[in-house]
Amino acid sequence: MDKQQEFVLRTLEERDIRFVRLWFTDVLGYLKSVAVAPAELEQAFDEGIGFDGSAIEGFARVYESDMIAKPDPGTFQILPWRAEAPGTARMFCDILMPDGSPSFADPRFVLKRILAKTSDLGFTFYTHPEIEFFLLKNKPVDGSRPTPADSSGYFDHTPQNVGMDFRRQAITMLESMGISVEFSHHEGAPGQQEIDLRYADALSTADNIMTFRLVMKQVALEQGVQATFMPKPFSEYPGSGMHTHLSLFEGDRNAFYESGAEYQLSKVGRSFIAGLLTHAAEISAVTNQWVNSYKRIWGGSSRSAGAGGEAPSYICWGHNNRSALIRVPMYKPGKTGSARVEVRSIDSGANPYLTYAVLLAAGLKGIEEGYELPAGADDDVWALSDSERRAMGIEPLPQNLGEAISLMEKSELVAETLGEHVFDFFLRNKKQEWEEYRSEVTAFELKNLLPVL
Ligand code: GLN
Ligand code: MG
Ligand code: MG
Ligand code: MG
Repeated sequence: MDKQQEFVLRTLEERDIRFVRLWFTDVLGYLKSVAVAPAELEQAFDEGIGFDGSAIEGFARVYESDMIAKPDPGTFQILPWRAEAPGTARMFCDILMPDGSPSFADPRFVLKRILAKTSDLGFTFYTHPEIEFFLLKNKPVDGSRPTPADSSGYFDHTPQNVGMDFRRQAITMLESMGISVEFSHHEGAPGQQEIDLRYADALSTADNIMTFRLVMKQVALEQGVQATFMPKPFSEYPGSGMHTHLSLFEGDRNAFYESGAEYQLSKVGRSFIAGLLTHAAEISAVTNQWVNSYKRIWGGSSRSAGAGGEAPSYICWGHNNRSALIRVPMYKPGKTGSARVEVRSIDSGANPYLTYAVLLAAGLKGIEEGYELPAGADDDVWALSDSERRAMGIEPLPQNLGEAISLMEKSELVAETLGEHVFDFFLRNKKQEWEEYRSEVTAFELKNLLPVL
């Protein structure tokens, strides 16, 4: 037994923890949990705990359904909302096949596989997510409109603001679980919040995002409201993005940084961005995986920066250009050695493991193939006409999930990164979502056509 495993077993005794939840994530990004008694843990560390994978989205076909969850002791945390004795703790798991080999259906393994390749190339991949979400008074299930929990706006600071108490309690809870928060503020829409996590390696970030979503929902319930990570719950307000800042390190040196180079961006940094741009459309189905995701990308208010919209619709990069898909934050004098790229397409409904895997794959491809970085876009690309954009070589992101799926289906990069099993399941599942959506008669049609036709 290693030191981390011993620490877990000792803590269980000292803190009188009676339930240990083993967490993992399905292909669509839903958190799954199975609780085991502490007495089972030694065996769980050695061999894992068996479960029926056929019931989990994207995991197994019925005839090969036995799967094993093996807890990662480095992710052990006590759940603060279940801390009083007898308490509850959790660990993230790796999913294995009965023969002990990693399961190709496990999103955490998909990310680990490309991280291993990254480390073979001499790099470590760091991520810093800005997570936006809504607090609502209710979550109606009959398709009617929810009510935001407050009526504040961007960076508003008002007394008796639900968001403020919420953020304080939520951040305290995250910190007590070892998740550091860097910034938090009210976002542009009523009820909309943003909390930014401190940068960490991509696997920890993805685990942290899964925890984050649960903690936000938990704290919301305690405060009599509901949290949602749906990309675009309101037509007239901006959606919820999960902008993420990415960087590669070589040892403790930032590999994107080169002193004196244009924008302080090294060759590695430039090719990485070129990779993200070149493959942006084909990875869209992963970074923006729901029918609703494209309402955020193309939604009316995303064009008006004043409304705090600013979701990117076009494939380009820039500096202070918040309409760009990729932003390279300005070099800060005195902050030598640092450079990062902010990817702004990702929404809060994404599976973080698969999303970081495809982004990393796209960036690495740029480095390996030595892609050239096109000129940055200084203009507001929404204000340009289609022909002006075409002349500048700026393509749109997919218009909807259907288009995103067709592009992904032809993508060698995504097939290779997700692996055959996840790739096939994902496409099958998303095609079904698109078909069901496409055949639905919507409130829009009933409102606009029924009265006049
Ligand atoms: N809500 C916007 C989005 O969907 C982002 C707003 C901002 O952080 N500037 O991407
Ligand atoms: Mg932000
Ligand atoms: Mg924001
Ligand atoms: Mg941002």
